[in-house]
Amino acid sequence: MNREPPKAFNEPDSKATAMAETSYEASATGSPCIRARGVGKTYSSRSSEVEALTDVDLTVYDQEFFCLLGPSGCGKSTFLRILSGLVSEYSGEIEISSARADGGSVTNMVFQEYGIFPWKTVLNNVAFGLKMDGVRKQRRHERARSYLEKVGLAEFADAYPHQLSGGMKQRVAIARAFTNDPEVLLMDEPFGVLDAQTKRNLQTELLSLWSETKKTVVYVTHDIEEAITLGDRLAVMTARPGGVKEVLDVDLPRPRTRGSIPTDEFTTLRERVWELLSDEVQQSVTR
Ligand code: ADP
Repeated sequence: MNREPPKAFNEPDSKATAMAETSYEASATGSPCIRARGVGKTYSSRSSEVEALTDVDLTVYDQEFFCLLGPSGCGKSTFLRILSGLVSEYSGEIEISSARADGGSVTNMVFQEYGIFPWKTVLNNVAFGLKMDGVRKQRRHERARSYLEKVGLAEFADAYPHQLSGGMKQRVAIARAFTNDPEVLLMDEPFGVLDAQTKRNLQTELLSLWSETKKTVVYVTHDIEEAITLGDRLAVMTARPGGVKEVLDVDLPRPRTRGSIPTDEFTTLRERVWELLSDEVQQSVTR
């Protein structure tokens, strides 16, 4: 079992291009940002063992928006938590590229349940990571305010979380993640509990922030349409123990909103993904 957090690597292009690709990976190019090889995870307690992941091979490239799609319980969150360092015992290898010399975060998680502090104002929630990194107050507040502006919450800087709707709280979580300026954003079904309209609006805002900042994003969802709307590529995972069944390109024009995506291409891809996923959903019910 590996007890180390994912290794950061910082390597010349030659080594990157020489990297072996597994046959099911779609055709993304660029420098690898995340490389997972043979990753497995079994949760053990005194009374039981749950094999959550087995033999996950995956490469995510710099500045890519990569979606992980799979049935509930197939290990998507576990994989993301391994990438973030929150789960430190796993088998196999994970490397995350880092060109950072400033000591800032390499990865940052955004959860479905917001993860914001109820006793802090919106501004202090968004600036919290920078405070922990020792960034001076004026600088961190400037940066936090600029992202609050981008997510439409500038006038709520002094409000407390209980004064916000679910969609607004998730905007706070997203503003905080971008304010922290990590190299990789790890997003675990961040819009899973929101109503359809709020979800669409937040998807559009997220895509706009992503295209502005060009962060590498790994985004977990069980919603096929969401994965197609957001991703450059998507991985369909098998039922538990989760592995990668297939990686598909989402070859649709950007900038993307649900309304701007050509209907025929969207439908064809959605059907292809459902073809891959439906067996896994069926199997996950019986596991
Ligand atoms: P997903 O995100 O795809 O829904 P998870 O990664 O949350 O899947 O969970 C995968 C499997 O691992 C599930 O069977 C879940 O019950 C189990 N699991 C997740 N976290 C733990 C844990 N801390 N202890 C024991 N089992 C866990």
